[in-house]
Amino acid sequence: MRVAAIVVAGGRGARIGGDVPKQFRRIGARTVLEHAVLPFARSERVTEVVVVLPPDPPEEAAAALRAIDPALRLAVGGARRQDSVAAGLSQVSAGADIVLVHDGARPFCSAALIARTVDAAAAWGAAVPALEASDTVKGVRRDGEALFVRATLPRDRVRLAQTPQAFRREVLAAAVALGQAGADATDEAGLAERAGHRVRVVAGEPGNIKITTPDDLTRAEARARSAAVPRIGLGYDSHRLAEGRALVLGGVVIPHPRGLVGHSDADAVCHAVTDALLGAAAAGDIGQHFPDTDPRWRGASSVELLARVAALVRGRGLAVGNVDVVVVAERPKLAPHVAAMRSALAAALGVDVGRVSVKAKTAEGLDAVGREEAVAVHAVALLVDRV
Ligand code: MG
Repeated sequence: MRVAAIVVAGGRGARIGGDVPKQFRRIGARTVLEHAVLPFARSERVTEVVVVLPPDPPEEAAAALRAIDPALRLAVGGARRQDSVAAGLSQVSAGADIVLVHDGARPFCSAALIARTVDAAAAWGAAVPALEASDTVKGVRRDGEALFVRATLPRDRVRLAQTPQAFRREVLAAAVALGQAGADATDEAGLAERAGHRVRVVAGEPGNIKITTPDDLTRAEARARSAAVPRIGLGYDSHRLAEGRALVLGGVVIPHPRGLVGHSDADAVCHAVTDALLGAAAAGDIGQHFPDTDPRWRGASSVELLARVAALVRGRGLAVGNVDVVVVAERPKLAPHVAAMRSALAAALGVDVGRVSVKAKTAEGLDAVGREEAVAVHAVALLVDRV
């Protein structure tokens, strides 16, 4: 069974405030529309995705959507919702058996909801997910300026419709034809119903909200943040101390008669933080990314290598939550250099200095570090999803 999804985002409505239509407002790193498209692009049930954009979408919108699904097709929306759905349907391949229609302003549809509506449409021709009304529902009438209750509707006989709505292709085609002939409806199930088709109701999801007000956007941000799973990484490094080398720690050159020995500048702080980031991203280790057999990294500035790894981590959709470092060195006293190290690390990581901690310890004269033969560094990094 071939299943196409049309995500409708053709509206220009800026009811939410500001110049940007609500489907292009951001929830974290992605727009509302990108969030809306993601579950369909990732669904094993959906074989093709069509997104209907307004005639003048933001410049970067198409590229961002293609980054989610390179095979995704775009259509240009019309004045009414049903014109946009018709434009989307014209892009659906002829072999599609079931067509889903989803609001571009609903960012949190689940894979289970997609599967449920597809299965119901396959069995019944048309399906709509809906919620029970938890409040008492009143029918109203207007009398001049004032609104009056006309009737109290039995709550068990009403449902609040969501999307994705699913249709056998010919049922949606009939609904769209009715819309093109002038019938008006706020959803496709309404048109299918008027075209004489039975529409099966399946359970909707309370979390499958439609972004309508600025409050919805704030709640969506909080939800996306709380759904993200933080990732922790551990890093460790040590280098020998020797005469005739500069002592570089955390990207800062520290005045001292001896420095750390290594292929690069031997900045053990940057190396430990780099490994903590790579560990949190499960992306290997510093030796894999910058092998000491590669002449490119001879004498390399480790703080620059750290910046490269921070960019790699961002490219994987992760952001640095915080970094904590313990430097174990007998001498010199590092306390006067901690502020400079934090600044240099924060700059390389592209984060506020408040997210970077550096603490200095001595080894109390006990081991190789205590005998001033080496410096050792421990680091942890927390990465969070850029939602
Ligand atoms: Mg090292």
